[in-house]
Amino acid sequence: MKRNLIGLSRNELGAFIAGIGEKPFRTKQIWTWLYSKGAADFNGMSNLSKSLREKLGKIAKIDTLTLEKVTKSKQSATKKLLWRLHDGALIESVYIPEGKRRTVCISTQVGCRLSCTFCATGSLGCSRNLSPFEIVDQVLGVIRSIGEKPTNIVVMGMGEPFHNYESVMKALSIINDSEGIAISHRKITLSTVGIVPAIERYTAEGHPYKLAISLNATDDQTRSGLMPINKKYPLEALIKAARLYTRKSRKRLTFEYVLLSGINDTQADANRLLKLLRNIPCKVNLIAYNRTQGDYKRPDEARIQSFAEAIRPLCAPVTLRLSRGDDIGGACGQLIAELSR
Ligand code: SAH
Repeated sequence: MKRNLIGLSRNELGAFIAGIGEKPFRTKQIWTWLYSKGAADFNGMSNLSKSLREKLGKIAKIDTLTLEKVTKSKQSATKKLLWRLHDGALIESVYIPEGKRRTVCISTQVGCRLSCTFCATGSLGCSRNLSPFEIVDQVLGVIRSIGEKPTNIVVMGMGEPFHNYESVMKALSIINDSEGIAISHRKITLSTVGIVPAIERYTAEGHPYKLAISLNATDDQTRSGLMPINKKYPLEALIKAARLYTRKSRKRLTFEYVLLSGINDTQADANRLLKLLRNIPCKVNLIAYNRTQGDYKRPDEARIQSFAEAIRPLCAPVTLRLSRGDDIGGACGQLIAELSR
């Protein structure tokens, strides 16, 4: 079996190069070809000797995901990319260009096992974690197919990144590497449902990427009803871990809050939110509910605005995430990786 070089960390690539008897400086050359120049094969790696190129061709490969389908939004420039993995499983990424920003939303699992009631991905269950290759190649694949390098990465596609911790961290270190794809850690955001021990681990390890927590409710009863994981990691523990993260990392957190009409969008919810997040350096990202199989409604515009207004005293900039791509099932909570859509 040829060794796939995509998805190896820089150290692992170094070990592979050393293992075939090559000098250490080859690692950087090959890394740059793979990730900065997007080489499709070894033949074009012009600063490698012919014999090394031939050797690599025999024992290694530059693997790619298969792009099954691209769906273009009619309302915006958003595109949804459906990938087929080597075992036949399907996953999705979303490309969202807005002004100078080109964001790619990537998946970390085939499906998701959290079963949040308002999210379509959760209804799929989770069949497996993605490998570092399958995560990294979503970004390389966007560059291959769209021809432009993304400026921002959000780890907010299918799956819970903290249920696939090691592979996600390895993939992000590859995406972030300044001699490769080179997307700054300031432009990479990872979103978690709130797996408390993983937030603590992330804090202790001092990762540089931005962290977002899907809060979505302000009391345990409502949150557990929407997000079963809250029974395991209730609000008090979650907020404690969040506070510790901001203190240790000296970074702000983002809290995502999906607005569901009549469920978590009242003045009382806004007041509880103010209290819950008091003294935590953060911003709140409101997401108006996007239609899924769930029995929920998006609040009307006036209610969304008054909720945003009510939580302004948090001194946090409140942002409203616009639902790019909801006409193609590409907005938050809609990814189900179906061929027929
Ligand atoms: N599992 C991680 C990563 C997914 S991020 C997490 O939960 O954070 C996807 C974001 O979309 C989450 O903030 C989630 O709360 C939000 N979301 C899920 N379903 C949605 C829907 N139907 N409408 C709007 N936002 C939704």
